[in-house]
Amino acid sequence: MKKQTELVVVSVPVTGHLLVMIELAKRLINHDRRIDTITILQWKLPSAPHADIFAQPLTASEPRIKLISLPEIHEPPPLELKHKASEAYVLEFIKKLAPLVRDALSAIVSSSESVRVVGLLLDFFCVPLVDVGNELDLPSYVFLTCSSGFLSMMKYLPERHRNIPSEFDRSSGDEELPIQGYVSSVPTKVLPSGLFVRESYEAFVELAEKFHRAKGILVNSFTELQPHGFDYFGRLESYPKVYSVGPILSLKDRPNPNQDAAERDLIMRWLDKQPESSVVFLCFGSAGIHGGPQLKEIAQALELVGCKFLWSIRKNPTEETNPCDHLPDGFADRTAAQGMVCGWAPQVEVLAHDAIGGFLSHCGWNSILESLWFGVPVATWPMYAEQQLNALTMVKELGLAVELRLDYVSGQGEIVAADEIARAVRSLMDGGDGRREKVKEMAEAARKAVTIDGSSFVAIDRFVDKLISP
Ligand code: UDP
Repeated sequence: MKKQTELVVVSVPVTGHLLVMIELAKRLINHDRRIDTITILQWKLPSAPHADIFAQPLTASEPRIKLISLPEIHEPPPLELKHKASEAYVLEFIKKLAPLVRDALSAIVSSSESVRVVGLLLDFFCVPLVDVGNELDLPSYVFLTCSSGFLSMMKYLPERHRNIPSEFDRSSGDEELPIQGYVSSVPTKVLPSGLFVRESYEAFVELAEKFHRAKGILVNSFTELQPHGFDYFGRLESYPKVYSVGPILSLKDRPNPNQDAAERDLIMRWLDKQPESSVVFLCFGSAGIHGGPQLKEIAQALELVGCKFLWSIRKNPTEETNPCDHLPDGFADRTAAQGMVCGWAPQVEVLAHDAIGGFLSHCGWNSILESLWFGVPVATWPMYAEQQLNALTMVKELGLAVELRLDYVSGQGEIVAADEIARAVRSLMDGGDGRREKVKEMAEAARKAVTIDGSSFVAIDRFVDKLISP
């Protein structure tokens, strides 16, 4: 009798990772009938306790995807580590999770004679679990919710570490790095800010070294977007095979505890009344970090430009005050006909709306892919994680985005002035020197990549081939 094939998935339970991992699982299971079931092992981070709220409705429509909750870990790493070096904290957490994953996996493997577990698919932060896969004789694959540029950096890190075994230094000025896979050298100052903090740097190097132990790496990007990077990885022989499977986007059924339903309706009704491509959308990811003085500059910029706007301002959970209290006096009255300030935005619906003409974004990779999918040009204002690298890719490598900043880092006290923001918003809304057309072409390429016989469709096919008959 033919055994049922099952893939086991472990993601990091935060919005930007879990939602796309579930979408990838759906794409894999619907690709053809070679994977019968997928089990997602669920767990919680103290900073992201809502994982099941996202996951349940997303998987409800697909009974062949199962969710299994792991027990809570004893003695999680101290929160001080999270504040100092978040990557190191997540890595420590994953290491503590490993025995629980081993138990769950063993139970799945031995649960039924008629099931064959074909492998493990791991978020890149979960790559230490490759060792658990090896113990149980299961091949592991990594899913990168970032660009091929981030993978280039992860390939470069251990190589550099052998010569210079220490974190990067912000005072190294305009130093540039010869990272293979990028068209040009990469300024040190656009590296993820964790690479300048010893504990996080060490975590990155440890993760990067473990990438070599995976059987393959799936990247949420597509060859038409990053031909140079994928071509580079395609030529490597002593590295896991790289599959460009994107864009994987979570576009439907994405309830969010931060989303106020009444406000969502208000936003969409307001957008319905605006002319085509007239509104600039400002949204800075799931964290949405901006202090009061910066909010003031953004508000002034919007008044200077005078174009329509939809601006998502997130409340910092540790702060009592309403961030809108920092807006200039009379801003709400003066801009009542010009724009809307909201909390959590229904970003995908907003970007899909004809009224949106530009997106001032923190350049999280999901936000970049969503903007490309809907053909909305971006102006770059990176904040944290690998967003500075994404901004570099979009502005310098691909000429698809308007540069506001490439190397801005949140939490360092720098304030971007109103006139600088205004210049970028004007350029964005004027079409950004032909960028709007280029972005529309890329939107078409993205849609083609994921349809039958498109580049990402074929990459998924090859990945499933490898999974089923390694
Ligand atoms: N998002 C949203 N509304 C908001 C802020 C974020 O829907 O107000 C969604 C956005 O559509 C994207 C995700 O949250 O899918 C953010 O992921 P990204 O990689 O862009 O940034 P991160 O939050 O990981 O920094």
